Amino acid sequence: MDSIRLKARAKINLGLDVLGKRDDGYHEVRMIMQTVGIYDRIIIKKIPEDEIRINSNLFFLPVNENNLIYKAARMMKDEYNIKEGVEIDLNKFIPVAAGMAGGSTDAASTLFGMNKIFDLGISQSKLMEMGLKIGADVPYCIMRGTALAEGIGEKLTRLTPMPHCWLIVAKPPINVSTKLVYESLDMGGISKHPDIDGIMDAIKRGDVEGVAQKMGNVLEDVTIPLYPVIDSIKKQMLKNGAIGAMMSGSGPTVFGIFPDEQTALGCQAVLKAQGEARQVYITETFN
Ligand code: ATP
Repeated sequence: MDSIRLKARAKINLGLDVLGKRDDGYHEVRMIMQTVGIYDRIIIKKIPEDEIRINSNLFFLPVNENNLIYKAARMMKDEYNIKEGVEIDLNKFIPVAAGMAGGSTDAASTLFGMNKIFDLGISQSKLMEMGLKIGADVPYCIMRGTALAEGIGEKLTRLTPMPHCWLIVAKPPINVSTKLVYESLDMGGISKHPDIDGIMDAIKRGDVEGVAQKMGNVLEDVTIPLYPVIDSIKKQMLKNGAIGAMMSGSGPTVFGIFPDEQTALGCQAVLKAQGEARQVYITETFN
């Protein structure tokens, strides 16, 4: 096999709690992760030259060692002593700096894809271990589906898959730095910790409404005061048929859960017309 085409899928958080800060600066989290239908298209080709070349459809993304794809390819080449190179085409559809693990999922797909094309036979758990050195969300992006993420996000427990539901994902035209949001979180001032166990129980019962009612994200305490547009989009979603709406990750992307496709499409049209979010997608849970 000389090349492989992959779909690197985005995630949302159905729940995100921060339990504390570790001495090394990382935060202890408890998050419920869910893969969604939005994906970046990645094509990895072997090339004879000992190089890592990245071509991206978005001019503003780095194509050097600052791209997580590059970091993943470099790690594979170094650890497995691969002399050939790779040319990787990235067609980005996942909103960037949005709280949807866009970069992490690209890195995850690069590890997965290079394992295949170079026929390395690396186990999934080893790939996840390698992924963690690139970023806390990378192991989850390799595993996918519905999962509880603890530790700094790397301790993963697979959950009963979230029942299928329609989602609207809306990103206002702001880029949020995940690092800055975590650094600005005042542990003492968290207004309400989400009921992560309650969300997991609702998922187990197949109770989408229960999930929608219990969803919560402590990072909203940091990001919403900085960008009130996030709250405004949440309210618009709830006004237009969402049974629950929340910010994903460190934001600024907001997602809403909808009872059916028709209602979701109606809300999408309203949000597009209103213009607070420039990128408004309809998608589904992916398990
Ligand atoms: P997370 O949800 O894990 O916090 P995010 O969705 O907030 O991630 P990303 O889209 O992964 O954020 O990217 C954040 C920054 O990382 C971007 O500003 C970009 O410069 C850099 N970056 C590096 N590699 C990539 C990549 N492959 N795709 C997107 N951004 C990348």
